[in-house]
Amino acid sequence: MIHNRFLRTIFVKFLGKSQISWKLITPLLKVVKAMSRDCVFCKIVKGEIGSRKVYEDEDVLAFYDINPQAPVHILVVPKKHIENILAISDEDKDLIFKLIKTCNDVARQVGIAEKGFRLVVNTNPEGGQTVYHLHFHVIGGRQMRWPPG
Ligand code: AMP
Repeated sequence: MIHNRFLRTIFVKFLGKSQISWKLITPLLKVVKAMSRDCVFCKIVKGEIGSRKVYEDEDVLAFYDINPQAPVHILVVPKKHIENILAISDEDKDLIFKLIKTCNDVARQVGIAEKGFRLVVNTNPEGGQTVYHLHFHVIGGRQMRWPPG
C-alpha cells in the first residue's frame, strides 16, 4: 500500500520543496500507484495471483519461480513494493537484511545450502530484470556455471 504522504515526502526530497505542489504530485501519484497495482509480485503478495509458497512473514514472501532455471528456483520478495535494488533507501536496511537472511533460511530448508546455490538480483533491462518488484532468485540443485549468460 502506497500512502500519499509517503510519496510526497519522496518527491519533496528529490525535487526540492519550491517546485512541489499537490497539483504537480497528483498525476505522478497516479502513475506510481498504477505501476504498483499492476505489479505481478504485489498481486502474489496480496493473494490475487496464486503461488507455491516456501516461506511467509509480515515483511517477506518466498515462492517457487513459475519458470525455473534449475531444479530449485525460488524467489524471495519484500511485501513492500520496491522497484529494484537501486530503489532501496536507508529505511529499508532491516528489510534488506531480512530478505538475505530469508534466502539463507530457504536454501537450508529446501536442502541446497550445503552443496551450494546462487543468489541473483537482476537489475534493469541489461541486467535482465523483467519484473519491477525487488526479488532475489535463490537458484540451486545443479552445478552453476560462470560467467553467467
Ligand atoms: P527477473 O527476470 O529477474 O525480473 O525475474 C522475474 C522472475 O519472475 C522470472 O524468473 C519469472 O519466471 C518469475 N515470475 C513471473 N511471474 C511469476 C509468477 N506468477 N509466479 C512465479 N514466478 C513468476
